[in-house]
This record gives sequence, structure tokens and C-alpha cells, in this order.
Amino acid sequence: MRKGACFLFAACVVLSAACATNPVTGKRQMSLLSEAEEAAIGQQQDAEVRREMGVYDDPELQRYVSNIGLELARTSHRPNLPWSFTVVDNPAINAFALPGGYIYVTRGILAYLDDESELAGVLGHEIGHVTARHAAQAYTRQAQANLGLTVLSIFVPGTRPFTELGATGLSVLFLRHGREAELEADRLGVEYGSTAGWDPTGVPRFLSTLARVDALSERGVPNWLSTHPAPGSRVGQAEPVVGKFVSPTATRRNRDQYLERINGLVFGDNPKDGIVRGNVFLHPMLRLGLEFPDGWDVTNSPEAVLAREPGTEHYMVLQEVEQPRLLRQGSGGQGGQSIAEAAVAAMRSAGYSVVDGRMERINGLDAHVGLYRGSVKGTGKVQMRAAHFAMGRQMYVVAGFAPEADFDRVDREVQPAVRSFRQLSADEASRVRPNRVDFYVVRQGDSWQSIAARQGKNIVNAATLAIMNDREVNEQPQSGDRVKIVVEG
Ligand SMILES: [Zn+2]
Repeated sequence: MRKGACFLFAACVVLSAACATNPVTGKRQMSLLSEAEEAAIGQQQDAEVRREMGVYDDPELQRYVSNIGLELARTSHRPNLPWSFTVVDNPAINAFALPGGYIYVTRGILAYLDDESELAGVLGHEIGHVTARHAAQAYTRQAQANLGLTVLSIFVPGTRPFTELGATGLSVLFLRHGREAELEADRLGVEYGSTAGWDPTGVPRFLSTLARVDALSERGVPNWLSTHPAPGSRVGQAEPVVGKFVSPTATRRNRDQYLERINGLVFGDNPKDGIVRGNVFLHPMLRLGLEFPDGWDVTNSPEAVLAREPGTEHYMVLQEVEQPRLLRQGSGGQGGQSIAEAAVAAMRSAGYSVVDGRMERINGLDAHVGLYRGSVKGTGKVQMRAAHFAMGRQMYVVAGFAPEADFDRVDREVQPAVRSFRQLSADEASRVRPNRVDFYVVRQGDSWQSIAARQGKNIVNAATLAIMNDREVNEQPQSGDRVKIVVEG
């Protein structure tokens, strides 16, 4: 959850039809963007990406990724674009490109890559989207469809919360390319990587990793997979291409150098945006904490924290209420609103009707706890328990809702969760640390399960650990191997 997050990318570009030569195929092609327009869009959207996602704060890692990217770009079909490569501070497994040569990898994907040849494969793939003008084409298509470069959100903007809980994932980026474009980018990734001296087998290896992540994620985790074709089939398609580019001069993998660069990399949530530990959410900057019901899946995004009972339409959310115009806590006043008035006004403007409500003191905070009726897209008619808390000038809402038939049972779990909302002490906030990538040398008899168990529960499970290390979870880790693990702090 990020304070004051705005989550629509404004994309306002005047498009003019033109015909340009595709740098990869050499064919003339209807493209709506000239090179200058590509550059202008890239520049403008780059600023948005940096502001929305944040740049990962590790200049050495940035330089390292950038140098590899630039080396690859020099071997590409458009060596003279003003290429830029950025690691964004986002936990999702993702990489994307903007028109004009702006390439991004998330810190999330870096933890899943095992050596430099895999990183080169990812960067080469994204470079391919730019050189083959996929980025420009996809941008044009989306701009025409009036979508712009939109970060999809399950929430509509702040004033109307809870109305649009679709089946889409949280904050899924970005440009969607067609299947053919993806396969072409895979091919170009292999070509650029091997021309620049990296082992081209890095491409099918990271595609295998994506296929494993895909198989593991049941709930549409926002990542690269949502915008790309099934990675399993891409492994098969990439392999014959790799065969053509295997050469004695293309062997660079630099595993040790790569692992050294990602030593200490933040894994999962960054505390500046709040972190999820099991069913607990802690936000040290906003100084708040909340315990969701046991066993619910908790997902943190810039706009809100969402919890869901697996396999159901039972949800909880934690969100900041925008501009509540509170005069002073606990009472009404001229020109301002009491907490109760602000709560009811916010819920009504979101399309909810009030069933009942009253003021309470919860963990030392003034709160208005109410029962509401409304409907949520994709779920239908729901009842909702919502508590609006005043903390300083800020107002937060913690709500749980379910289809009307289930609500009474769900409410018994929601109520204690709502009442667990509290302010963190400065000391407690200072002790919230991110999880980080670390290393472990495998001993005789270790399994992925036993290695995961060493780090304690709620950090990372055995399946994830195996995937991060390019292995199947039922494969025995090799004694003496140095493998990635995730540790707290
Ligand atoms: Zn792609």
C-alpha cells in the first residue's frame, strides 16, 4: 500500500498514420508511430513508470543490468536507439518494454534468474519487442482501444471503492503482445544474447522457470505470465532456435558474478509499501498493522491490501480513504465531518446503503463500524462490515464482505480481523525488515523442504525455493551446490 498512490497512467498521444520500415524484417509496414513519436511516448511513460513503481535503490545492480542490456542492444537491429535499462522496485515476476528503447526488469524477476545468460535472455527478449516494433504496435493498438498504458486495477479510483472486484489480477502490467510477437521476441533474445557472447540456452532455461511459476500460481498472481503465452510451449519453440545459435563464442553464464550482484536483493514486499507476513500486514511508514483471518491469501498493492478466503468470493480490504475532510476526531463541527459522517458519505458515494453503524474505540483509535449492503462486479449482491479509522489526519477503512447468503458466517471471521487494526509503535515499525535473497551451501540429505524449513514459516515455501534455483521441487538438491534462499531482515 502506498500513500497517495495514483493508479492510472495517463496516455494522451495524438496519433498519425504513417508507414515505416520494420528494422527486423526490412519490410514496409503500417505503423502509426514514427521513430520520433516512439521516443516521445517512451520518454513520457518512462517518467510514469519510475514514479509509479519506483526505481530499485541499488546503483551497482542498476549499472550491472544496464551494462548487460547495452551490450545486447549494440548487437540488435536498432543499435542507435537511446536504450535505457532499469530495475524497478516491484516484487512481481515481470519485465517490459516501452517504445523507444526503455526496458525494465522487476527486482522480482531477478530473484528467479540463476545466471547472467538468463538475464541476457530476458533483456534480449524485451529488446526484441522494441526492435521489431512490437512495443510501438501494441501501444498503438491499446491507445486506439482507448486503454492507454493502463495499470489495471481491481479497484476503481479512490472515491468509489469496492465496486469493481473483477477477476483480473492486481496491477497487471503492461503492453499485451500477440503470440507471434512473443515467439519472435524469444528468437531475437536468443540471437542478440549469443551474438554478444552469452549462452543462448539461458532463454529456454528462464522460460522453464516461468512455466514452473505458472504451474504453481493458482490465483493469477500478477506477473509476466498474464501478458504472455503459456511459457511451456515457448520452451519447445525456442529450443530449435537455440540450436542454431549455440557456438564456441557464446558460452558466457557468469553464475557467480550474477549471484553476487543479487546478494541481499529485497524479496517480496518492500517495507516502504507495507509487507505481508502470512496473514499479517504491517506498514512501518504509515505505522499501521492488521491481522487478516487465518488461512486467507493476502495481496499488497499500491492502492490497497486485499485478502481473500481461498476458493471463495469472501474478501477483506484495507484502504486509505481519500480526502475525508475530518474536522476533529470523534465529533462533528462546522465545515467538517465527524468520523461517522465521513464514513457514511464515503460508503454512499461508493454505492452502498447503510444498514447500521456506531462509533467504537478500537485499540485506542476512534472508529466507525458499520454494516452495509451493495453489489460488487463479478460477485453480485454483498453485505459488508466496514470500519473507518481516524489516524491523525488520515482515514483508513478496513472492510470484509461476502455474498449475502454467506455473510453471517464470514462476519464472524471478519469482525476480529477488523478489530485487530492498530497503530504500530515507533520501535515496532523500526523492526519491520524486508526479506532478502541469501545463499546456502547444500548438505548431504537436504531437500528443498528441509532448506525452506530452516528459514522458518511464512518466508518462502519449498516449491518457490526450487523454482528460484532452476529445479523441480521433487529433485534432490545437489550436495555442495550454492543455492539461493530467502531470509528475514
Ligand atoms: Zn514479451
